[in-house]
Amino acid sequence: MLPEIFFPLVKRSEGFDALKRRIIDKGFCTYCGACASFCEHIVLKETPELVEDCSLEYEDVIKCGENGICYDVCPMTETNEKELEEAFLDGKKDAELGIVRKLIAGSCGAQGQDGGVVTSLLLSGLKNGLFDCCIIAARGSGFRAEPVIAESAEEIKEASGTKYVAVPMVSKIGEAIKEGKRKIAIVGTPCEIRATRKLQQAMLKEVEEIDIVAIGLFCFENFDYDLLSEKITELLGIELGEAEKVQISKGRYIVRSNGKEKSCKVTALEAAVRNNCFYCDDFTARLADISVGSVGSPDGSSTVIIRSKKGDELFNSLEDFVTTDVNREEIIRTASLKREKIRREGEVPPILIKSVRLK
Ligand SMILES: Cc1cc2nc3c(=O)[nH]c(=O)nc-3n(C[C@H](O)[C@H](O)[C@H](O)COP(=O)(O)OP(=O)(O)OC[C@H]3O[C@@H](n4cnc5c(N)ncnc54)[C@H](O)[C@@H]3O)c2cc1C
Ligand code: SF4
Ligand code: SF4
Ligand code: SF4
Repeated sequence: MLPEIFFPLVKRSEGFDALKRRIIDKGFCTYCGACASFCEHIVLKETPELVEDCSLEYEDVIKCGENGICYDVCPMTETNEKELEEAFLDGKKDAELGIVRKLIAGSCGAQGQDGGVVTSLLLSGLKNGLFDCCIIAARGSGFRAEPVIAESAEEIKEASGTKYVAVPMVSKIGEAIKEGKRKIAIVGTPCEIRATRKLQQAMLKEVEEIDIVAIGLFCFENFDYDLLSEKITELLGIELGEAEKVQISKGRYIVRSNGKEKSCKVTALEAAVRNNCFYCDDFTARLADISVGSVGSPDGSSTVIIRSKKGDELFNSLEDFVTTDVNREEIIRTASLKREKIRREGEVPPILIKSVRLK
């Protein structure tokens, strides 16, 4: 046996194994795609999988850190939210809503899920050179969705509307950078925005020319497509894949298909909710430059929370925003309802272990 003095000074990385054991195998993965964004060893199948030996077995130990970069950027692993707020946001701390510069509601001319604000922000940011591409969720087969790097107004308009399924948005950041893009906008749910910030912090901090604008969507929960599809057929007699529009409003899941609308209570779909969503306490995308949702504003409008100078600049570039009243209490009520739903018994993901919110 070697004396202790001969052990390597650099601790060997756990590689992909840590992510697999603590997140993926436990059903905590949100399918954001961050772990696969820069690492060619990881491929996104039903869950992220290692396709060949993680190179950390042999080299790159320092570069990938003790747990592996894939672990560090995952939105469900330990996260220092305060540090990320300080690094990316700039406004007053609101105990309920996170960092806020401005809370408003209204609508834009673009057709969208609610007030069309996200689509208008993307169109305006692209037109005014605030970014040269955006990562958005395009409708795939059925009501599935896939992440795409869009560079034209047509693609942005085509991808408007909410897809209530997990889309690995963050996987596209690496691809966009490899393609030579430097100013990127990304739209995502709160977990995807958190992953984006962790990825920026872990990998892109020193690369000043890479500029990311993060547009967050409010999110109460998300669904497993196959389970949801089965449940919708069972409850409403509709093939989800043939739907024209899906919306969640006032506690109801509404599907428009063949010009007709049918709905059921969202609570009736609980069995199709992704497991990871039962361990999530972020309703308003607290780490986004600008967050957008429907709760807190009248039908056909969007609630907007601006959280950084970048968010301000993007919002101010809008030419057709029409303001309406915003209901702050409604947002807070929904955010606390989401926190109350968190499963506290049994094993919880690392992000919640240290969270004061669980105490
Ligand atoms: C899974 C999910 C759950 C949500 N739950 C709530 C909720 O409980 N309460 C609430 O107030 N709001 C919720 N939202 C947000 C809401 O549905 C609207 O997206 C938001 O109000 C913006 O409306 P808009 O008209 O400005 O968007 P639009 O102008 O229609 O633009 C929407 C943009 O979102 C992108 N997008 C669509 N689906 C996804 C996805 N799955 N992942 C990443 N990007 C996507 C599209 O590419 C498009 O660019 C949820 C969104 C998602 C994706
Ligand atoms: S990110 Fe690093 S630790 Fe993770 S699989 Fe890739 S090489 Fe291995
Ligand atoms: S980084 Fe995203 S895709 Fe990868 S394990 Fe974590 S949640 Fe899943
Ligand atoms: S509820 Fe949380 S974990 Fe689930 S999709 Fe929304 S932000 Fe992600």
